[in-house]
Amino acid sequence: MLNIVLFGPPGAGKGTQSQYIIEKYNLIHLATGDMLRAEISEKTQMGLEAKKFIDKGQLVPDETVIGMIAHKLEKHSNASGFVFDGFPRTTVQAAKLDEMLQKHGAPISLMISLEVGKDELIARLLNRGKISGRTDDQSESTIRRRLEVYNTETLPVMDYYKKQGKYREIYGMGTIEEIFQRICKVIDETKGK
Ligand code: ADP
Repeated sequence: MLNIVLFGPPGAGKGTQSQYIIEKYNLIHLATGDMLRAEISEKTQMGLEAKKFIDKGQLVPDETVIGMIAHKLEKHSNASGFVFDGFPRTTVQAAKLDEMLQKHGAPISLMISLEVGKDELIARLLNRGKISGRTDDQSESTIRRRLEVYNTETLPVMDYYKKQGKYREIYGMGTIEEIFQRICKVIDETKGK
C-alpha cells in the first residue's frame, strides 16, 4: 500500500496535486475539506455545525473529521492506498490516523509538504474565492486567520512525521506540472525502497 499525507498551508495546491497523484498511482483521495463541503451542501446536521467553524477560519473539531476518515477507510478497505489531503491538521488527528491505519494494514509511507510563501498563498486564495464562491476564501481576514491556525495548530503535525522519518519537503511554486514532477520523484524514491 502507498499512503501519502499531502501537507501544506491553505492554498498550497494540495487539492490540485492530489488529483494528479491519485490518477498516476491509482490511489483514493480523502480530503476532509471536500467531505465537509459535501455535508454543508446536503445541509446535514454535521455540515451545519462544521460551517460555523469553517466560516470563522477555525478548525472543525477533531472527532468530526476523524469520524469521516474512519468511515471512508472502512468503505475503501480494498484500496491500494490513499492520499490524505487536509488531514491530519492536528497532532491528535495524526495519532488517530496511525491507529486507524494499523487496522487497515499499512502505515503512512510518506508526508509531502508543499512549501509556498505567504503572499502567494493569500493571492491564490483570494483568486480561488472569486472563481469557486467558497465563502472562506472571500475575505482576507478569514484567510489570514486560517494561516495563523495553520501555524499554531497544524505545523506541529510536521514534527510528528519528521520524528517518524517520513517528512519530505517540496518547493510548491512553479507550474502545476513542474510541481507534480517534483512530487513524483519523491514518491518513486519511496516506492523503490
Ligand atoms: P484549505 O486547505 O484551502 O484551507 P480545506 O478544503 O482543506 O481548504 O479546508 C477548509 C476548511 O475545512 C478548513 O479551514 C477547516 O475549517 C475545515 N477542515 C478541513 N479539514 C480539516 C481537518 N482535518 N481538521 C479540522 N478542520 C478541517
